[in-house]
Formats: sequence, C-alpha cells, structure tokens
Amino acid sequence: MSNSLKILYHQGKQYIPDLENAKISSKHSGKPLLLNSTCTDGCKECINICPAEAIQKDPVRLDLGKCVFCTECENVCPAKKITFTTDYHLASNSREALVMDASLSELPLFDPGKIREEIKGYFGKSLKLRLVSAGSCNGCELEMNAAGNVNFDMGRFGIEFTASPRHSDGLVITGPMVENSNFAIKSTFDAIPQPKILILAGACAISGGIFQNSLALQRDFIKNHFVDLYLPGCPPHPLTIVNGILNLIKSRKH
Ligand code: SF4
Ligand code: SF4
Repeated sequence: MSNSLKILYHQGKQYIPDLENAKISSKHSGKPLLLNSTCTDGCKECINICPAEAIQKDPVRLDLGKCVFCTECENVCPAKKITFTTDYHLASNSREALVMDASLSELPLFDPGKIREEIKGYFGKSLKLRLVSAGSCNGCELEMNAAGNVNFDMGRFGIEFTASPRHSDGLVITGPMVENSNFAIKSTFDAIPQPKILILAGACAISGGIFQNSLALQRDFIKNHFVDLYLPGCPPHPLTIVNGILNLIKSRKH
C-alpha cells in the first residue's frame, strides 16, 4: 500500500484539469504567426521547400488544412515572416478560415456563429463518434485514441468512439480518402442517424495533405457534404481534437 502511494506521488497528476489552457511542450509546432515583414524580392524559399503545397505568395498565405507543421518554411525564410507558436487551438468550422495571412493569423479560427442549428442543444452532454480511416498512416488514429486516455480524457465530456455507426452522432474521417475507402465512408455516414456531424481530422482528410496530387484519391464525398469541423495537424494534437469538438458542441461542463 505505501509503495503504491509512493508510486502515485512520484508519477504526479496525470489528469489535465483545464484542457483549454493546458501548458504544452515548447517543442510542439502549433498555430503559425505570419508577420507583416516584407519578403525579399522574388524569394520563393518557403514555397519551394513546403512538401504540402501549403504556401502561396503576394501576400504570403499559409493553408493550415494542408500544412504538416514540419516548420521548414520558418527555417528557410530570410525575412523571418513565418513563426510557429505552440498554440494548439487550431480547429475550425470553416475551410476558408484555415487559409491564413498576416492580417488573419492572430484571429481565432473557430466561429461559434457558424455552428448548425441542429447541433446546438443535441450533443452538449453526449457525443458518440465513429471513425473511418480512409487511407491514413495511423498517426491521426493514435492521437484520436490519446484524446480519450487518462491525460486528456475527453470521455469526461461524454465524447467517445463507438463501434457501430448506428449508435453514433457523427463521422470522423482520417486519411486522404483513397478511392477504395469511398464505399466505407459513404455507407458509414448513411448509417448514422440524423442529425449527424462530419469531422475531418488531419491534413490528409482536410485536403489530401502530402498526397493531394495522388491519382489514387477520390474526394467527391467532401464536395457533396457539409463539414462541421476541421482538425488541422499531421497528426492533430489531442488538445486540438478535444478543444475543437468542445467548441462545436459548446460543452465545457463535466
Ligand atoms: S510547416 Fe507547413 S507550410 Fe511550412 S513548409 Fe512545412 S508543411 Fe509547408
Ligand atoms: S495527416 Fe499526417 S498523421 Fe494523419 S494520416 Fe495523414 S500523414 Fe498520417
């Protein structure tokens, strides 16, 4: 007994009480800041090095829906225009808001005014989700699992994954949506009762990520369905996941 208590004391507090303001490792690459500094004439260093085609110029814009947070653009920029912070509040309910420029980079990415009326009031105390891996590398699934572990514990808000889409309130898609996954995506989504929500987790699901030009992808499902929540990252951090979902269902009570 005393040994067990010693071990518990040594391990410290595992549970993170305040997920919205939790401190995070300084090594984490989160929301970038785009400064107003002027680019060197004709410089395309950031565009050339980006593996995800996430940067456009004049003005410099960075698409968080494509970015894999490798920070190479920050490293090569001679004007020090791009700086990655540790801010994990990256989730958005607008695809357009994920394309940041210097004037937008300090604004919140999530707009509560854009939450669908059907969602408000339905899922505040319980949200069951079914995940379909649509060609993922498994990184996004690992972080989804981590969001439910003893540290992040999204189960305290009633947010859990279910085995059956018929017992779910929404679908989470990970991976770039290879053509062979289309039947699984569509049949799972169709089996979820109304009102249902759709979440895209990770750069691959949001935009195709580093696979965006692959001929193996078939992403028409996204063109034809309303997306309620985008979770940027490669993979998204559990704090991005939990805070994003809580913003969507507007639940902070547990
Ligand atoms: S951090 Fe994002 S925008 Fe910058 S080079 Fe890497 S993928 Fe591209
Ligand atoms: S976004 Fe990154 S971690 Fe997630 S499936 Fe794609 S490559 Fe893997």
